[in-house]
Amino acid sequence: MPALKVGLQKLVDQLRALQKCFMSMEEPVNMNNSEDADSDLSTHRNRSRSSFDEGSLYISCTRPHSLVDPGKPYSSHSPVIKTGWLDKTPPKGTLIFQKRWVTLDAEFLRYYQNEKEVFSKRFIAVSTIADVLSVGEQKFEVVTKNRTFLFRAENSAVRGEWVAVLKETIQQLCSNGKTRSPSLSDAGGDSRGEKQGYLEMNGSRSKLFIVVSADRVFLYLNSEDRSQGIGITSIDMNMGSVKSTDPRAFSLNTCYKPFSFVAETTQQRDEWVEAMQACIGRSLSSDTVVWSVWVEESNRRCADCGAEDPDWASVNLCVVICKCCAGVHRSLGQSVSKVRSLRMDEKVWTDSLVQVFVQLGNDRSNLFWASNVPPSETIRPSSNNEERQNFIKTKYCQRKYRQYHRLFGCQEDLNKALCKSVQTGDLLETMSLVFCGADVNCSTGDPDVPNPLCIAQNYGRKLLEEFLFHNLNTEFPGVQDVERVIPQVAVPIPHAGILFKIGSTTRAVTERKGKGDFSQRWCTLDKGVFKYFDGEKRAHPCGEIKMSDVQCLVVNPLGKHGYLHTFELYQISGRIHLFGADTPDSVQQWIETIAKAIVPPEAEGMASWSFERVGRLRYTEGPNPHCPRACWVAAGGSTLLVLLHGTDRPESIDLRKLQELCVQPEPGPVVLVDRGRTLRLEGDRRADFPGWANSLQQGAGRGDGPLDQQQLTGTDVPVIVDRCLGFITQYGLKSEGIYRKAGVQSKVTALLSSLCLDARRVQLTEGEHKVDDVANTVKRFLRSVREGVFDGEQASLPWLRTVALSETSRRISQYQTLLASLPPVHQATLGAVINHLYCVQCFAEENKMDAHSLSIVFGPTLFQADGTDKSAGQVVEDLVQHYQAIFDVDAEHVKRQIEMISHIITAKEDRPDEETRTICGIYLEVKEEGSELLVQVSQKTTATDVVSEVLRRRNISSQPEDYWSCFLVNDKDDMDGWVNVTRNGHVQFCEEKGQRAKGSFSKRYCVVTATSLEIYKTPKSNHPEKDCHLQALKVYCGIRKKLQPPSSWGMTVVWTQDQHEMHRWYLCCESDQELTDWLATFFFLQHHGDLWPGTS
Ligand SMILES: [Zn+2]
Repeated sequence: MPALKVGLQKLVDQLRALQKCFMSMEEPVNMNNSEDADSDLSTHRNRSRSSFDEGSLYISCTRPHSLVDPGKPYSSHSPVIKTGWLDKTPPKGTLIFQKRWVTLDAEFLRYYQNEKEVFSKRFIAVSTIADVLSVGEQKFEVVTKNRTFLFRAENSAVRGEWVAVLKETIQQLCSNGKTRSPSLSDAGGDSRGEKQGYLEMNGSRSKLFIVVSADRVFLYLNSEDRSQGIGITSIDMNMGSVKSTDPRAFSLNTCYKPFSFVAETTQQRDEWVEAMQACIGRSLSSDTVVWSVWVEESNRRCADCGAEDPDWASVNLCVVICKCCAGVHRSLGQSVSKVRSLRMDEKVWTDSLVQVFVQLGNDRSNLFWASNVPPSETIRPSSNNEERQNFIKTKYCQRKYRQYHRLFGCQEDLNKALCKSVQTGDLLETMSLVFCGADVNCSTGDPDVPNPLCIAQNYGRKLLEEFLFHNLNTEFPGVQDVERVIPQVAVPIPHAGILFKIGSTTRAVTERKGKGDFSQRWCTLDKGVFKYFDGEKRAHPCGEIKMSDVQCLVVNPLGKHGYLHTFELYQISGRIHLFGADTPDSVQQWIETIAKAIVPPEAEGMASWSFERVGRLRYTEGPNPHCPRACWVAAGGSTLLVLLHGTDRPESIDLRKLQELCVQPEPGPVVLVDRGRTLRLEGDRRADFPGWANSLQQGAGRGDGPLDQQQLTGTDVPVIVDRCLGFITQYGLKSEGIYRKAGVQSKVTALLSSLCLDARRVQLTEGEHKVDDVANTVKRFLRSVREGVFDGEQASLPWLRTVALSETSRRISQYQTLLASLPPVHQATLGAVINHLYCVQCFAEENKMDAHSLSIVFGPTLFQADGTDKSAGQVVEDLVQHYQAIFDVDAEHVKRQIEMISHIITAKEDRPDEETRTICGIYLEVKEEGSELLVQVSQKTTATDVVSEVLRRRNISSQPEDYWSCFLVNDKDDMDGWVNVTRNGHVQFCEEKGQRAKGSFSKRYCVVTATSLEIYKTPKSNHPEKDCHLQALKVYCGIRKKLQPPSSWGMTVVWTQDQHEMHRWYLCCESDQELTDWLATFFFLQHHGDLWPGTS
């Protein structure tokens, strides 16, 4: 058998060689390989239907050498996932397996005669594959609805790989919910530019079913095959051309091979030609430039890191670069490097610019730019961002590795040489001169051709003209300047890596998610768009998240879910994404990179801080309510960073020291009073808001935490301690046996627990609270607070040992040393307690508690001990007696304090509760400068109060039939909160294309953001069905009756995509109010909040 196989292979090779001879004669025919019995088209219909591979067609055409790129697909569509040799079942009647080169991408499984062939013999749409089964030894079946294909691998390991990768690809396609495959007749409704039908193709003996779709032409044996997703091959139309050859025939010339087709009638021929031309147009738009620039071999590797197939370029520095390097180039600023895409920025790519790149090429450009790069400084595609940045800055800003021109340093000579080289048209020399200091704008002294650019024009040096044009304003900043000019945040460094993700939801993830709930995703973040893929090589993401659409990033506590590190992204549209991984470094990098991408430059400090959550909120400030503005907020521990509107850096708020924190029930705001200022953070019913409220509450201190996580006063003393000591100072200093007498246990317990819940809320009043209860409450707190005032048992030992020192001065200095080593909150708390005890013993005559009596009580309390160790009491007694020395307090200060306390105790005065009052400017009927009345309002003032006050002061008598209204007007400057106006919800949706409506109304989820209208099938859908720019829409109230809208509250949205395509969408709501809200949202956003009727 092996011998036979070898013999056959030889024959095949000979035949193939023969075909190549034909090919070289440019004969546009297909070659039916005699080896391939199944390729006999004329007979295939009559042959057994059960044949595994009836009717494949062999269009022989091998790739030109320059385009052979092993392991890479020739097609630009989907990256190839797997390739390799497999044996395919023989056609019926023969027993010999046929060796085929098989490729798999996200859309198709194809097999070819060999690895150099351009056109497949057969393709099977992945979307039609129902299953993949291992059979027998080394074999596997690819099962579609109607047919089964049998393949045999070299060994069972290879078989296993194919089966696994095929299954995964099918799975992925399913999970994407997309049937992009044009091979399915009913795939999606989007058949833009599609044409299909039978055509005779020169070389095949029967008509073929041809489909022109998007930027490809597909060949099928017949329309049934098409509907089954099984075809012969597809022709990429890039660089193709179509020509009519006779009344019914036309030819399609591709860069590989010409095809001839014959239509039934001239009219049909014209339609086909038109469809194919449009198809070429579509493919050209993306690929022409890239392929023309890649004609120069060295342009297929990044000039900086060597990455393959770079599709970006710096048009002034004349280098072709990869996406990662382009990100760094862009960060240097336009004046250093003008970065353009070879695929997207078509306009800049004139023929002459393309020629500049072809003539120079990365190799020659690097002769200049990288003539002496130390091996230690070179970068690779895998280099990290820092290395990449350093290298690129050194290369193009410092220009450290360049080939110095011999005239370097002599400006005049350089300029003269430039004028000369422009005449001769020497590109590399010109480049070398310009980047070594020659002045592109230098004067030639000739008024007819005043500068080098004119010389180039005069001499018809188009390429030089192009080069000079792009370098008219190039700066040479040096590396320091770049650091200064370019803020770090402007560096959009692409980031990529593996994360695990659970499907997005619309409500906060509260339950624990196990590892099994997560799927591995390859994630990228580039140019403000986060994408996640099923695998690194996938062309199509499973989903993407615009960073501008992220309103909150939450870092979960370790181990909250199955993965140790997890974080969540909340989108404005309401979707929530949960990501995780076990590697702290990579997760941390992702968090920082994402944070940088969502916050504005001024808030960049937040991104690199170890926050627990960062995001955008709306706020109002001060006692005057105003239109909410956007702010950026980051919370972590007890710190809150806030970037308020109009400020250039975040300010830091110590949440423990808030005077007040009030979390109102949803959708109420969270109110913070910090250093006398009131800040209201709005909830807006957002899914991330309860998390904010919780995080603020946690950060604001809690009674069950250690000393330094308590609510604190401005001087770092726990509010619980401060409140109680203050109360005793006011009401208890003359109470006999204060701190020694017991309180009422139940009252002490109740008071302590309410203080622990929120100490700021608790007002201690003389009538309600007894001094002994309060005294025992603070004692119990100090005795039980975690770690205690002396910061734990271990740290308290040196204090206790100090009493053994007999010399007072040595003890004092030892206490001072120990005090200095306490953490700030402990230090402040101990200071406050001892200061208080000092004051208490000053009134010992009345309260009978001298320093010794107090220390017997407070020794065990502060040391959290049982009282058997007497040294605890001795320490406290020392501290009280030598209070001024140990705590370094001014004697005068203590004296004044005691005097003040005496004054407070004696002067019993009522202080009425003060009400916040604000002055408002009120205009009557017209707003004229200086005509406003100033009215004092408080929280209790009603609109009626305001109106009657104004009328009274204007001497207007109000008649019973008069209706006066009172409006709160926001200045236009205050309207910058508008960007946050968004709306989402369910609507009944119906679409009309051209003149006819498609289908009836159905429920859709509609999202309006500041920039776009998106329609989703459900709130959980990852991809919008419709996504269009808000400003391209016209919104009308009402729907034509003919369409039978499901409710009478509808609106018509007209989207003009381009001049020819107009879409009409109908959205129906459930109530008048809803309709008004939707319309208001649209108009508000379209007009940037300026809805006041204009005068013009
Ligand atoms: Zn690169």
